[in-house]
Amino acid sequence: MKKVSVIGAGFAGLTVSLRLAQKGFTVDLYEKSARVGGLLGTDQTEYGIAERAANALMRTKKSEDLFTELGVEKSLPLKESRRRFIYRYTPKQWPLTFLETLFFIGKVVPRALFAKKSMKPVAGETLESWGQRILGGTATEHILGPAMQGIYGNDISGLSSKLILSPLFTKKKKDGYKGLLTGPGGMQDLVNHLETRLRALGVHIHLNSEVNVAKLDGPVIVATSASTAAKLLETAEPETSSVLKKIRMSSLMSVTMFFKKPQETYKGFGCLIPRGFDLKALGVLMNSYIFKDRDKTYNETWILGGVKEAQLLDLSDAELLKLIAEERFRILGNKEGLLDYRINRWHEALPYYDLNLEKAQEELTQLPKSRFVLHGNYLSGIGLSKILERSEIIADEIAGQHG
Ligand SMILES: Cc1cc2nc3c(=O)[nH]c(=O)nc-3n(C[C@H](O)[C@H](O)[C@H](O)COP(=O)(O)OP(=O)(O)OC[C@H]3O[C@@H](n4cnc5c(N)ncnc54)[C@H](O)[C@@H]3O)c2cc1C
Repeated sequence: MKKVSVIGAGFAGLTVSLRLAQKGFTVDLYEKSARVGGLLGTDQTEYGIAERAANALMRTKKSEDLFTELGVEKSLPLKESRRRFIYRYTPKQWPLTFLETLFFIGKVVPRALFAKKSMKPVAGETLESWGQRILGGTATEHILGPAMQGIYGNDISGLSSKLILSPLFTKKKKDGYKGLLTGPGGMQDLVNHLETRLRALGVHIHLNSEVNVAKLDGPVIVATSASTAAKLLETAEPETSSVLKKIRMSSLMSVTMFFKKPQETYKGFGCLIPRGFDLKALGVLMNSYIFKDRDKTYNETWILGGVKEAQLLDLSDAELLKLIAEERFRILGNKEGLLDYRINRWHEALPYYDLNLEKAQEELTQLPKSRFVLHGNYLSGIGLSKILERSEIIADEIAGQHG
């Protein structure tokens, strides 16, 4: 039986191992830490659960199929979560004024109808420049900026429009998005089921294990962050490593807070917070209005960080809670007493989807194919559904070459 090694047991490593094992490969999965899941994980508290990173996957056909085949119960979001807010002095479902909306429609609709090609992002164009060119300044500042910052953890002035928006302009058949999907016990349910299935399929999971990738035989899938992949491939593939070193990583923090009483003024998925209001938080998720029956008390997750705000990670718990309490009062007008909290700090949480990454991705495609295959959230998209798609593509390719 053909042998494949996978480095890193985050969602990328777990799902590519699953697909390879199902194709009959002997898989050795090496994980540096004492547990699988990587960024994904759910903490239990006496008041309910606290997600560390992702709280759900996009509900696509592939992600639904994954839940079904693993036997993970599908937990879908509440109707209330369809309501989303963007802060503009108060949380608003539509943050533009009547006149701004007319201007926005006048700018976008004719182009969308008669010159759609001109809307395509161009190489080297930031998301902010694209927004100003296509949507106008106000919609860029109050809609595009906060929305993208909520996904990529950084303000749009440095983000690459090509990396982020190009998929919207390709003719490729899309795996239709139908909302969100998680397990009743949170993302840890999915991680647990993945681990159990891998073990049942005979995948050897080596925890607390850092291997020298050059010494492994056969195909090696490097499913770590870009910065770790750069280090791992330094001697085995110096050219690839030097391209990977150009990819910057961005910090992020998630702070889940459990309150004595719910805030009931704004019921919805959460509130995005644009830059320019002298607020540090990037956004807040109103967990108890997203998922049903899993909290004992109302809770929210606040997201802070990004490349320009990495120093926020140095705040003590008390300083951070004070900062969020002040911003929370300004945004939601609520001062409810705090019962408990969980803070996760990552100095290198996610790849920075900037123009360096745009260039690096291009350079990576020009390198000759080798037995080292790169996988992770800096290649096909930051979200889990995109990582899952890539896992399936990689497994098909490896089966085609070595199966
Ligand atoms: C706060 C936050 C919220 C998010 N929300 C969402 C969301 O709602 N929906 C969504 O789709 N996505 C979301 N994401 C993004 C998503 O969680 C990540 O993109 C995804 O989990 C990354 O998975 P990965 O396997 O690529 O990397 P990781 O999870 O980083 O896994 C890499 C693994 O490699 C291991 N490793 C490192 N070095 C070595 C080594 N030398 N040898 C062996 N193993 C090694 C690590 O320990 C880790 O287990 C969020 C991310 C964050 C931070």
